[in-house]
Amino acid sequence: MKIQAKSPEEQEKLMTWDDTFRFKCYRGIDCFNSCCRDVTIFLDSLDVIRLRKTLKISSTDFLETYTHRVLSQKSGMPAVILKMNQDETKQCPFVTDAGCAVYESRPYSCRLYPLDTEQGVEYSFIVTEDTCHGLKEARELTVEEWRRDQGLRDYDDIDHNLKDVMHADQLWEEKIDNPRMQDMILMALYDVDRFREFVFKSTFLEKFKIDDDIIEKIRNDDVSMLYFASQWLRFSLFGEKGFLKIDRDFLEKKKIEVLSKGKQE
Ligand code: SF4
Ligand code: SF4
Repeated sequence: MKIQAKSPEEQEKLMTWDDTFRFKCYRGIDCFNSCCRDVTIFLDSLDVIRLRKTLKISSTDFLETYTHRVLSQKSGMPAVILKMNQDETKQCPFVTDAGCAVYESRPYSCRLYPLDTEQGVEYSFIVTEDTCHGLKEARELTVEEWRRDQGLRDYDDIDHNLKDVMHADQLWEEKIDNPRMQDMILMALYDVDRFREFVFKSTFLEKFKIDDDIIEKIRNDDVSMLYFASQWLRFSLFGEKGFLKIDRDFLEKKKIEVLSKGKQE
């Protein structure tokens, strides 16, 4: 969650998992809810899966209603950010007088607040105690205790799995500027329902030989589908085969179709 630019002093204050800080947020604190407005919240793939489940809507509808799509200027990688209300309050659509209406599914950035991290190793504050009065409270805890308390460990495996894909700009010299490719990446990373439809309703399962137990797992389980999507992106972007193996019979069939089409023309 980027609430405002970090001051140079704050940027320098880097903490690791064992370092302690003071913080407590609760209903009744005088700044309650003030941080849930006019913020840029990048959503993780797991955030979209959880939020759409809580809201009981498809990932496609969630993305359409609650997010903006953005592209990294450097790499061309797509990402999604949570739309704030388009009125003068610029509030998050999920904030209520009682707090966050989607608390159990709140995004990664909201869990990590008032901290931020680039790679999950070093952490820094993104606000000062002038803005976030919870930083003046007496409760002291380590960064790791905060991570555990906020359920951030749930993200570790997935983030590790997707790291190569999300940081493609560090592996590639060329920018992704093909809109179709950007849309495919967006679908695989964030739109689990559309990606599932692509896998089960196209020739995907004819093209790739996939074990039956994997097919059963991804049929209904969103997190398994996300891992599967990361494998598919690795295959498509970097040529890594993993468990995705192209069916040779399918390739032969396609070759014959293309040749006979060419002859007819
Ligand atoms: S500004 Fe800090 S203390 Fe205040 S509501 Fe937000 S997180 Fe809690
Ligand atoms: S999702 Fe919840 S915690 Fe995050 S900004 Fe919105 S209301 Fe606040």
